[in-house]
Amino acid sequence: MRAKIAGPLANTAAGAIAEQVLRACVHCGMCNATCPTYQLTGDELDGPRGRIYLMKQVLEGEPAGRLSQTHLDRCLGCRACETTCPSGVDYHSLYDVARPAVDQAAPRPWKERLVRWAIRAAFVHPRRLSILMSLARRVRFAAPSSLRGKLAAPRSPGPTPAPRHGRRMSLLHGCVQAAAAPAINAANRRVFDSVGIDLVETPAVGCCGALSFHNGSQAEGRAIARRNIDAWCAELDAGSEAIVANASGCAAFIRDYGDILADDPHYAARARRVAGAVKDPVEILKANPPKAVRAPLSARVAVHPPCTLRNGPELADAPAELLATLGFEPQPIRDAHLCCGSAGAYSLLQPKFANELRKAKVEALTGGEPQEILTANIGCMMHLAEASPVPVRHWIEAVDEVVSR
Ligand code: SF4
Ligand code: SF4
Repeated sequence: MRAKIAGPLANTAAGAIAEQVLRACVHCGMCNATCPTYQLTGDELDGPRGRIYLMKQVLEGEPAGRLSQTHLDRCLGCRACETTCPSGVDYHSLYDVARPAVDQAAPRPWKERLVRWAIRAAFVHPRRLSILMSLARRVRFAAPSSLRGKLAAPRSPGPTPAPRHGRRMSLLHGCVQAAAAPAINAANRRVFDSVGIDLVETPAVGCCGALSFHNGSQAEGRAIARRNIDAWCAELDAGSEAIVANASGCAAFIRDYGDILADDPHYAARARRVAGAVKDPVEILKANPPKAVRAPLSARVAVHPPCTLRNGPELADAPAELLATLGFEPQPIRDAHLCCGSAGAYSLLQPKFANELRKAKVEALTGGEPQEILTANIGCMMHLAEASPVPVRHWIEAVDEVVSR
């Protein structure tokens, strides 16, 4: 398709990325087949092809209104459309470039801006979020239903091993996960210790920046990315082998650091270095297989691969394959490619769509009567747990249960 970016994005790296993506699209519509929101509404504008048209219009300087914004807001950013596109259209890069342009062309009502500001203010500061969550848990009964399930008391993290091996990797502390489920990082550290790797959190790094970047402040998301790049480059220089992010949504955003800072001459090269160093723990454990020292308490599991593990890094089956080597019995899951509706802050901002998608996902995951559901992203974990009849946890916690002494 012909495309010519106009306005402030013309002749920028972001504009060039958008132009390249738009030119690759041939409007065949095959992507609609895997788009969760198109499946829900059947509206062309709630599918990737329609959204590409909307984004093209605004990037070429045509006026954008609330209608365009509404259909773009409904996009989960799940990238399922990219998996069925025969032309290799990099939809999510276009989406990242176009969303602020749409918000600029169609300013949001103050209530929407306030909600997005509140999400950023609360969620991206781990200490602030921990305090807020422990206060909110005391009045959980009065919280809105979309928040209530997210305020469950966290599991105890248990002991964390002291560094004692020659090999070292850096672990993302995180923001929401650090406050809501500190047991995940602790389990990750014990599992890595069992295979001879010290996993150490980098004190200067908290949030990855995704929540800010995708919720109204790309500038704040970039500032957080720069802070993390400074800290992680120092770690890599000092001998850390990799940056480990066990929240697949955070890992996906860090993999995009190179693109989001492509226009920054001071950070572009180091952003690409960090993006290339980030790993999901399953990648490390594939190369360093852990050994089970006991049988699982709940062997029959459903493993939900988040979109951020499936679409991009193509690691969808890796956690289930690893778990099978450790005595677990992962059950087959239908429609595994469809998003659960969590998608960062999407479940807070688009609860109707998020809840419909979750209902279908929970039905699919429990079809094989698992004893528990395992996943790879804190957002999916909390979202599914609110509606699941069986416990939901991170797969690394299940591995920890059978390999740590
Ligand atoms: S499948 Fe790819 S080329 Fe076809 S409409 Fe969708 S994005 Fe465009
Ligand atoms: S990212 Fe997901 S929700 Fe958005 S258009 Fe693509 S498939 Fe649909």
